[in-house]
Amino acid sequence: MSEYELPPLPYDYDALEPHISEQVLNWHHDTHHQGYVNGWNSAEETLAENREEGDFSSSPGAIRNVTHNGSGHVLHTIFWENMSPNGGGEPAGALAARIEEDFGSYEAWKGEFKAAASAAGGWALLVYDSESDQLRNLVVDKHDQGALWGSHPILALDVWEHSYYYDYGPDRGDFIENFFEVLDWDDVADKYEDVTAKFE
Ligand code: MN
Repeated sequence: MSEYELPPLPYDYDALEPHISEQVLNWHHDTHHQGYVNGWNSAEETLAENREEGDFSSSPGAIRNVTHNGSGHVLHTIFWENMSPNGGGEPAGALAARIEEDFGSYEAWKGEFKAAASAAGGWALLVYDSESDQLRNLVVDKHDQGALWGSHPILALDVWEHSYYYDYGPDRGDFIENFFEVLDWDDVADKYEDVTAKFE
């Protein structure tokens, strides 16, 4: 059976300061993200045991745990990759053109995304929706409530309190502004190219 593992951060823990502190990245990556990886593995073990024993009474709960923890793992991995000490600026190339096409302008996309991040009880996502062949912003509660079938996240912003409260207190808006200072548009563009290539 496959065992999921916590990927290392793609930069040092203090690399995103002053926008995100070393302390927050330590807790967020090593404790919270690790917790989702452990929760996913443990739920898979329960499912495998139940299948062997033919007793499925605890399987629906374990399946829910796969969804919650697996989604947490996937989104945190994208969130880490989306950031860089050399971030900031605006998207370029094919991604910039697609944002203009699907949202009208970069400013319209950004306004909608920031509103989504202010309202979410979990995550704001920019996704490629393969069903309607367009980019969309999603408002996600927890890690999975508000998911759209057929959509593939290319940009993920964690707005759980553990993501910003230590650095910004209740001022989530300030955190969202600072996220844009470390947002690595090259990584978002790579993810956009990878996912759209699968549906050509
Ligand atoms: Mn988180």
